[in-house]
Amino acid sequence: MLALDRHPSGRHFLQIPGPTNVPDRVLRAIDRPTIDHRGPAFGDLGKAVLAGMKRVFQTAGDVVIYPASGTGAWEAALVNTLSPGDRVLMAETGQFATLWRRLAERLGLAVEFVPGDWRHGVDAAEIERRLRADGQRAIRAVCVVHNETSTGVTSRIADVRAALDRAGHPALLMVDTISSLASIDYRHDEWGVDVTVGGSQKGLMLPPGLSFNAIGPRALAASRTARLPRSYWDWAEMLATNARGYFPYTPATNLLYGLAEALDMLFEEGLPNVFARHARHAEATRRAVRAWNLEILCADPAEYSGSLTAIVMPDGHDADAFRKVVLDRFDLSLGQGLGKVAGRVFRIGHLGWFNDLMLCGTLAGVEMGLAAAAVPHRRGGVDAAMAFLAEAPQPALQRAA
Ligand SMILES: *Cc1c(COP(=O)(O)O)cnc(C)c1O
Repeated sequence: MLALDRHPSGRHFLQIPGPTNVPDRVLRAIDRPTIDHRGPAFGDLGKAVLAGMKRVFQTAGDVVIYPASGTGAWEAALVNTLSPGDRVLMAETGQFATLWRRLAERLGLAVEFVPGDWRHGVDAAEIERRLRADGQRAIRAVCVVHNETSTGVTSRIADVRAALDRAGHPALLMVDTISSLASIDYRHDEWGVDVTVGGSQKGLMLPPGLSFNAIGPRALAASRTARLPRSYWDWAEMLATNARGYFPYTPATNLLYGLAEALDMLFEEGLPNVFARHARHAEATRRAVRAWNLEILCADPAEYSGSLTAIVMPDGHDADAFRKVVLDRFDLSLGQGLGKVAGRVFRIGHLGWFNDLMLCGTLAGVEMGLAAAAVPHRRGGVDAAMAFLAEAPQPALQRAA
């Protein structure tokens, strides 16, 4: 076996904003014999996970599951609904928005990219202005990232929806929730989203390898006339076989066992409690950052992310050199700065399968690492986080009698 663990004892801390820690319950669920995906038992599994994912997306509409990373579901959202040369409005919230844009351009879409400073979410007023300026109604879709994983900024999707409505513009609204789904409240139906993109390896607590589209009725209608080439990603065949819990090609059967278990865990805790837990750990993390006298990348407190915090390094200090010290000394993986903020920020993932003491351990690793790497800071971040956690305790899970 390839030796992946460089430390002789104890658990590795995987505190990047995805992939996240996989619960033991999920690992055990995956560790079962693969079954015939066309056999009689499979349909019940397929139906159960599809129904559970609708609850997670907060939709009564269709959800499809791909054996693919999140990038596949990005592509699926576009190729099912759009035609070559279609105009698409996107917003530069950070690296993931930038990558989705690149994918769209490679598919032959004409992207209008609203520039951003990587410290704010989507500017709904600017979206409205650009849609109003589109008198020909040539823009076919508005595509935004709900939680920008490269910056720790969460955009207000209801405001983006309201911008489309105020402009009276018929463009489809597509939202990437890969790092917010099952961590930060997200409502596909209520917010009038046409396609939502999700992935398995973040809030859903699974290994990488599954991704999702939640599909609203307008998107489904658009898919009947859209002309971008598609085969593997085609919703039509997928939905036809999904009706009985089956798939048109071999699904990732063992990951679906894991998904069924992860859904059980989320519903046992209750989605509102899951969201509150993430918000609470995010607040404790920010209190630690302020106590360290370091800067949070997200500039607007109304847009703080519940699932991760990006922290700006003091001038002259390299975030990756710091992360290396933390990994070598404490076996703690922190998220690297991506794209325009590479080397300038590090990210703490506090999403997925996580609790107070895992957070305290993570913050202790960061605080000890700051000292070990001689990064200028004040001590006391862990104390500040502990004080907050103690004064605002997480309610114990109400177990059914
Ligand atoms: C992780 C992530 C992706 C990329 O997903 P892959 O699984 O790496 O393909 C896309 N968007 C966001 C917001 C993400 O956090």
